[in-house]
Amino acid sequence: MSEVNYRSPSYGVAYMQGICAQCGASTRLVALVLPPGHEVFEPEDEPEAREESTGGARGDSDAALGNGGGDRDAAIGNGGGACGDGGGARAEEREARCAEGDGDGVWSVATGNAFLFFLECIPEPVLQRMHAYAPAYRLNSPAEAPLCEAGASAADDAPHWANHCDACGGAFDDDQLFGEPGGGFLPTSEAEARLIQLVPVNEPLEAGAGGYAYEPQYFDCMRRG
Ligand SMILES: [Zn+2]
Repeated sequence: MSEVNYRSPSYGVAYMQGICAQCGASTRLVALVLPPGHEVFEPEDEPEAREESTGGARGDSDAALGNGGGDRDAAIGNGGGACGDGGGARAEEREARCAEGDGDGVWSVATGNAFLFFLECIPEPVLQRMHAYAPAYRLNSPAEAPLCEAGASAADDAPHWANHCDACGGAFDDDQLFGEPGGGFLPTSEAEARLIQLVPVNEPLEAGAGGYAYEPQYFDCMRRG
């Protein structure tokens, strides 16, 4: 069961080239980005320790005003106005893929950018956009471990969407891609950040994810467009 726990009036697709740890091939990697103004569902009964990294020196933010900060603002502004259109269709898509995240809890607005990972449910139109940049992105089924193995929680075994190697089909680990400095979508320098391309999508997003990287460092150095 996957519930929507992130929503936003617009979003972004990030993509880059990565090296497969299994065969050494260069392959296409993709990720979802939430702009400032997105909302995070925080359940009251099971407070979860979210993975957050506070980063980004003030200087980086200022630099962003020159590079593509405008793109981001435009995407958010227009997306907010689209609420009246297509609401019905959106609800159907959501029902088909994700359970409604309407348990006890609150939606809170975040003022920074964030990457989502360990994605458990993604609306079909969003998945199609991600596939345009990384066709091998697909569900990573639970590994060899049987679902009901003693000691393993259901959450550990839950399938999630993951990047896979174009050449050998090997899965990339989201802990590495989003949690290991310099490992992918967690750049440790401006130069590394420039290898990541951000494409703003002026459409609403609702998704379920187990990983959330708030205010990634060097975000404003990632290339736009
Ligand atoms: Zn490979």
